[in-house]
Amino acid sequence: MFQSARLKLTAWYLLIAMIISLSFSTVIYRAITNEVTRFEKMHRERIERGIESGEPGFKMILRMQQDTLTDAPDSIGARPFRIPVSPELIKETQERILYILILINGIVFIASGGIGYFLAGRTLQPIKEMVDEQNRFITDASHELKTPLTSLKTAFEVYLRGKDKSVKESSILVEESLAEVNKLQTLSESLLQLAQYEKPNGHSHFKAVHVTQVIEEAVHKLQKIAAQKDVTIFKTLEDAEVNGHKESLVNLMVILLDNAIKYSKNGTAIQITSEKKDNSVVVSVTDEGIGIKESDQKHIFDRFYRADTSRSKVQTNGYGLGLSIAKKIVELHKGSLQVKSVEGEGSTFKVVLPGSSTT
Ligand code: ADP
Repeated sequence: MFQSARLKLTAWYLLIAMIISLSFSTVIYRAITNEVTRFEKMHRERIERGIESGEPGFKMILRMQQDTLTDAPDSIGARPFRIPVSPELIKETQERILYILILINGIVFIASGGIGYFLAGRTLQPIKEMVDEQNRFITDASHELKTPLTSLKTAFEVYLRGKDKSVKESSILVEESLAEVNKLQTLSESLLQLAQYEKPNGHSHFKAVHVTQVIEEAVHKLQKIAAQKDVTIFKTLEDAEVNGHKESLVNLMVILLDNAIKYSKNGTAIQITSEKKDNSVVVSVTDEGIGIKESDQKHIFDRFYRADTSRSKVQTNGYGLGLSIAKKIVELHKGSLQVKSVEGEGSTFKVVLPGSSTT
């Protein structure tokens, strides 16, 4: 598809280049031909006038001409009169110009074909990358959607095949199915969020937002989950304002904090800090969890990427979408998101956001 689009675009470039080149050539050809004809006419008239008036210089030209001409005599015996700029010379000049213009157009054709092909490739490259990315995304998303759907289908089929279903069996099936449905819901919500943040101007209604409010809201949402794991959340907050979309920023903090809890060992602590630095606001989330391998660190922001946590025995049901959504939110706010982590010791995610002008 890419190749045929590239060839089509090359053909269009070539067509445009050739239309321009041929138009210029026609204009040049006409202009030169007119100029040569006008010059020939002017020259001939001048010589004829000179011969008629019998000026000595022109008489000499006439004699020289008659002496050198080899043409056959005309009907009254006189040799034909030929003047220095003859129609043959004009024709020859025209032919030469035509030849040069054809040559130039040939060169233009070959050069613009080559350059057009190269430029078409360059023009289409970002589109190709985008299409490849979209295809990869669709494949990954379909795969992730397929897994819970398949297990739902299997559970229902097994249930239907069995006879005399007890109430207990039925409620187990409903519970398991509900868990799969919840997974599907989480996944579809994450996919929707990702799609929303990928839109240019996904959230253009920015206003001054207090960072402490954002952090407090996120902590409030996850307090229960943290308590279930006996994870304590400590906060060292300096208030600052950023220009942004509050819900998205809360979402960003929820993702980082949720991961910190999810990948923490029971009974450990999480530290959240916020501080103003130059014209920026820096928010960090540090955990004492399983940490991230150095080789995984550069990939964790990719969609659907999940680091191998099998050795840490941490069971997670994430889809590898959280950090890519977080990254999109940070990019939307023209900030940056970095990770520092030591395997087995813990991780720090640092968000740097430009401070609002009133900060
Ligand atoms: P998931 O839903 O799988 O957590 P994310 O995109 O949020 O997806 O994270 C991608 C991967 O990065 C996770 O699978 C996990 O391996 C790793 N990760 C993210 N945050 C942490 C953390 N605080 N500690 C350890 N590993 C983390």
